Amino acid sequence: MAEAGTLHDAFIGELRDTYDAERQLTKALAKLAKAASAPELRQAFQSHLEETQGQIERLGQVFESLDEKARGKHCDGIAGIIEEGKAIMEEDFDGATMDACLIAAGQRAEHYEMAAYGTLVAWARAMGHEEAADLLQQTLDEEKAADEKLSGLAEGGINQSAADSAPPEGESDDHDDEDEEEDEEGNADARAVGSGAKKSAGPKAKPAGRRR
Ligand code: FE
Ligand code: ZN
Ligand code: FE
Repeated sequence: MAEAGTLHDAFIGELRDTYDAERQLTKALAKLAKAASAPELRQAFQSHLEETQGQIERLGQVFESLDEKARGKHCDGIAGIIEEGKAIMEEDFDGATMDACLIAAGQRAEHYEMAAYGTLVAWARAMGHEEAADLLQQTLDEEKAADEKLSGLAEGGINQSAADSAPPEGESDDHDDEDEEEDEEGNADARAVGSGAKKSAGPKAKPAGRRR
């Protein structure tokens, strides 16, 4: 039987996971940018995409500082977060609401990355890999800044625009499932594309499945 793995082995494994996560995120950030309506949100995703490309290079330097080959290992965690983001992008929301949802999806990714880099920095320091720790800390700082940027955009207007874009009619503010379009009944994809505006769902029988 092989010897038990060390923290160093775990560290290299997490670096590979994170390397793969960053590569998945470059594609996802491009999609988020494309889906954003507010120009400043689009710009935020776009500039974090460019930053992410730098983070991938920086991880290359981390591997190099450890005499390890840069390679990735599939990151299931970020894949799941990206899947949820894709599902949201297929929903039929007005532009401001979609922007609020894109921010929510983006912030899930940033927090996941902050957790990953926070651990990587701490482990690198514990093992005396100072060069690696300094590089990883730079990326951690960028992830935190990206997260704060998204919070600023959300709280600086996008959330309120989304809240204000709800139609005034309902007395059912706290029962908004009344006219919500149900999407789990088979032909869900028909409405995925292109309808920015609210369309009335019309009266229809409520499926039993989706009450909260
Ligand atoms: Fe990143
Ligand atoms: Zn992962
Ligand atoms: Fe990030």
